[in-house]
This record gives sequence, structure tokens and C-alpha cells, in this order.
Amino acid sequence: MTEPVVHHTARRRVRLVAATGAAAVAGALVTAAPPVASAAPAPASESRTGRLSSTSTATGTGGAVSSVDVNASRIGRQVLAEGGNAADAAVAMASGLGVSEPYSAGIGGGGYFVYYDAKKDEVSTIDGRETAPSGITNDAFVDPATGQPYPFTPQLVSSGVAVGVPGTVATWDAALKRFGTRSLKRTLAPSIALARKGFVVDQTFRNQTLDNAERFSAFPDTARLFLPRGDAPKVGTRFRNPALARTLTSIATKGPRAFYRGALAREISSVVRSPRKDPSSALPAPAGTLSTKDLASYRVRHQAPTHVRYRGLDVYGMAPGSSGGTSVGEALNILETYRLGGGRRTARSLHLYLEASARAFADRAAYVGDPRFTKVPTKRLTSQRFANARRCSIDQTTASTRPVAAGNPYASGCATVSTQDRPDTENVSTTHLSVVDRWGNAASYTLTIEQTGGSGMTVPGRGFLLNNELTDFTAAYDPDDPNRIAPGKRPRSSMAPTIVTDRGRVRYVVGSPGGATIITTVLQILVNRIDLGMTLPQAVAAPRASQRNTASTPAEPGFITAYEKLLAPYGQRLTPSGDTFTSAAEIGAAATIEVGRGGRLTAVAEPRRRGGGSALVVRPR
Ligand code: GLU
Repeated sequence: MTEPVVHHTARRRVRLVAATGAAAVAGALVTAAPPVASAAPAPASESRTGRLSSTSTATGTGGAVSSVDVNASRIGRQVLAEGGNAADAAVAMASGLGVSEPYSAGIGGGGYFVYYDAKKDEVSTIDGRETAPSGITNDAFVDPATGQPYPFTPQLVSSGVAVGVPGTVATWDAALKRFGTRSLKRTLAPSIALARKGFVVDQTFRNQTLDNAERFSAFPDTARLFLPRGDAPKVGTRFRNPALARTLTSIATKGPRAFYRGALAREISSVVRSPRKDPSSALPAPAGTLSTKDLASYRVRHQAPTHVRYRGLDVYGMAPGSSGGTSVGEALNILETYRLGGGRRTARSLHLYLEASARAFADRAAYVGDPRFTKVPTKRLTSQRFANARRCSIDQTTASTRPVAAGNPYASGCATVSTQDRPDTENVSTTHLSVVDRWGNAASYTLTIEQTGGSGMTVPGRGFLLNNELTDFTAAYDPDDPNRIAPGKRPRSSMAPTIVTDRGRVRYVVGSPGGATIITTVLQILVNRIDLGMTLPQAVAAPRASQRNTASTPAEPGFITAYEKLLAPYGQRLTPSGDTFTSAAEIGAAATIEVGRGGRLTAVAEPRRRGGGSALVVRPR
């Protein structure tokens, strides 16, 4: 299931600039970091966690985990407490999230796994992205009845044609074989128990189900599972998924071939090629071409992470086909050329954060796609030289007219190239988990089935949803677009699982869901923490803005309240953020960890977004 291994040795270099210098702390924003005002605070015990108690910040030693869900975090903490390493815990948590976050992740989807091996001082990645089937055509998203592209939602997103070959099971297998110490069987046991026993439904799960009710109703097998008796499961009831428990048990005992070959593979292919739609539904649910051969030939890719230096730290991310590593890296490289800080410098720092981000988005649109299909200048995009050139179009006092043109990484100086503007979507789907173990290994893993609820199609009797990841290809058929559809190609992603090391030791593990806003969420948390003097809990809680090369910047209500006036003199305009599908104003749902002096661990999940996440350590302080 795997290809040759490439990795990157983390360099033990002397730190050049203090990561959280005293000056930055002194001027810090304390005031500039009000907690998000948009989401109603919910006591942890009633939120995402059902009856389990949960905290969003935990400090201590012996290992740490962070995720959006207490069931998953508990599983991860248990693995660490019993002597498992970060890879073991990450896989166990991911399969737990597939049970308790079935609309965001699971075996029907894909993701990216970034791993720091402390002994080897090495960062490696596993690309478990979904892949377009070999039979797809580049006009697959055009409705033959009208000659026009299918409307994006709910038509295209609820279809067989949007389903990519899932990569998650292969990722788990590869992660355990390369980095783990435990078998798949042992690792999946806690999530199998969770699926059997069930988890307590909270408001977030109920809302996500209701948001999808129309799509789910179009597919009777999905409705039977997630809309029992015609309604979303009630808050406080237990949601059991025995079918998923059986599917996971079969994967646990027989390995990935129980998913990629045999009966389940035939069933997946059959559902995609002939969606089981309620005949009375108006959804067209166009069929895909995914075949058993596509499943049998799925392979994860091992490639070097992206790497940039920022304020003396080493920042590692996911290389293309994800645009996460190049975009976060390019923006950091641009910001590296400025002195940022909190207090009096907050407004200017945020202005530069928005400007750097706009350029990173212009460049990802122009250059990033699946590197097996398009030439992606990853090294150039993440070079300090290119960032210095991109800086020349930034005015430190005035917002640029956006969209800004893409830079030219093949030329020197300020050269830009004209490209077509390709808008992207803003979602709150997907999920992220972060782990650090007692030996200093770390896993940063973002996984998804694309939008919340994926394609809306379950595999009958198997208990899981199929992804609609292929909607991440750009729908237009511009031959210059690095992200256009092709058979066997992986759609460009924004997922940005990130590991930051400091002289050969993990310092931060960061990641988030949120479609294209993932990039800005990861970037903003790093800037908040490293430059603006916030603690990690403040950096995560702080309200967010996501500049993706548009004239005005979508921002959470708390950000608008705190910074609109401060940013107005720079000509920066803010507009309320809104998820494309659910109208939620939240940006991201991060899960992070910091390793401090003497190995002290601070795990930080969201205090409020998505109902609040769960951070745990093995030995609380
Ligand atoms: N499909 C998205 C990506 O790979 C993730 C889904 C989301 O977070 O909305 O960037």
C-alpha cells in the first residue's frame, strides 16, 4: 500500500530570534486577543462531549493530545498512557473521530499525516489524499442534460461523481508500519468499542445532521443511519453504529485489504457507480466511475515535508498536492521580513498578516496542484528569495487592491503573472488532531470526507459516509489551471497539518479544519503565538480573519469588533465570515500542542468553536 519513503531531517540550528521575546510579550495583546464572541459559550459538559467532561487546555507531562472531540482525545491519551507512541495514538484517535465525527472524517475519506520522529530528528509525511478514478473525464462535472456544470450544492456535492478513492485506511496502515509500535488490530479496538457502545449526541452533532437532512433523505441508506425515525438523533441520546463497528473489526483483523479489495470494495464501487437514491428525490446524484481496480491500486504517497525557517524555528508542513505547506510557508517567509508585535504594533501586524496571506493565496491558485500532473515549484514558493520578491508589492500602510496578481517564482524581482481568479469555498468541515508523546515524537494529522456529511452517500450496511473530495478540483476547464480534473489525480487541498521544531525538538503542533480557511487559521495561530505575544490558549481562542485574495476579508464577529477600527486606516475592509453550506460564522476548529521548557506540555483545543474541543495530557500538572 505504500511507495518509496522520502523524509526531511529537521535541522538542529541555533535559534536566531526568540520565539516569544520579552518585548513581544510586554506589548502583547492581551486586549488584542478577546475570545471569540461569535459562538455561544457552552459548558464543556454539555457541549461536543455529551456527558463526558472536557477541557480545552491541559498542561502536564508524559504525552498530550488535542482534538475536537473528548471521545477521540480520551482514546489517544489512553494509548499514550499505556506506552503507545504518537503514531499509535494518532491512528487510534483518527478512527475514534471517524465514529464520533462521522460527518467530518472516517474511512470513506482521506487526509495528510505529518510525523516528527524524535530519535531520528526527522519530519516525514504520508499523503493519503483521495484520488480521482481512472475513468473520470475532465467534463465529469458537466450535466449532459444541460451542457452546463452541475450546480455546486446540493447537486454536485451529493453525487457519485464527486467521490474520490478513499485514502484513510491506507494512511493508518502506513503510519503504524512506518512509525508505530502497535498493530492495526490493537489500535482500532477502542474506536470499535465506541461505535458499538455509542457516543452521547450533543448539539453540534444534531445541528450537523439537521443541516444535512435534505441530502441525507435523498439516500435511504444514509437516512436510516443518521435520521432514524425521520429526525436527527436527539441531544443526550446515545448514537450507536454497530455496522461501522463490524466494518472496523474486519479492517482490524484482515488489514487494509478488507477495505481496498473484496466485498467492501465491490460495494463502494457499486454505490458510486449507481447511487442508491430515493426515486422521489429531485437531486440528480450523477454516478461516478470509481472501480474496484481504482480501490485495489490506491497507494499513499510519502514525500518530504515543506520547510521554512521562521524567527529561528523550523516550520514543517504538507507538500503539494496540498497547498497547506507552501501557503503557510510563503506567508511566514513574507512576514519574516517585518518586525511584528502586539500592543501598539498589533494593527500593523494584522495588516501585514492579511497582505502576506493574499499573496500566498494568489500563488497557490497559480502554481499548486498534484505534482504528478503539473509542475509545482514547491522549493521556489517556499524560498525566502521568492518571499522577499513578493514583499515588494506590499505597502506597510495601505491595503493593496485585491485580488493581487500571482508572483513569478521563476523570475527574479517583483515580476507577477496574470492568472484567472478562481474563488474558493469556506467550510467548517474536516477535523484535525495533534499528539506529542513522552519521547518527543509528534503527529499532526488532518483528515476529512470534504464537506460536513461528505457526499451524503453511505455504503449500505457498512456504517460510513463516502467523501465528495473531488469537488476540490476547480470546476472550470482552464488548461492552465494546475488543479483541473484528470484521471488518477489528487485534488488540491488546503489542509495544513504543521509541526514546528526548535533546535531539533518539537515546539508546536498545529492544524485545523475549515477548507481554504485552514491555511489562514494555522498561519494566524502561529503569528499570534510567535509574534503577537499570546499564550497558546489565547492564540487559539483569538477571533480569526481569513484573507484569501479577495477585496475584503471574511472575519469572525469578534475580530470585526476588536479590529475593524484599527484596520480601517490601512484600508482593510472586513466582512462577516460565513460557511458556504451552514452559515456558521466560525473559522476553523484548531487542535494544537506546545512543548515548553523541560518538556512541559500544553495541549490546546478550541474553547468554543464547534462546541469546544478536548485537550488532555497523560500526567496533568
Ligand atoms: N477538502 C478540503 C481540503 O482538502 C477540506 C474540507 C474542509 O475543511 O472544508 O482542503
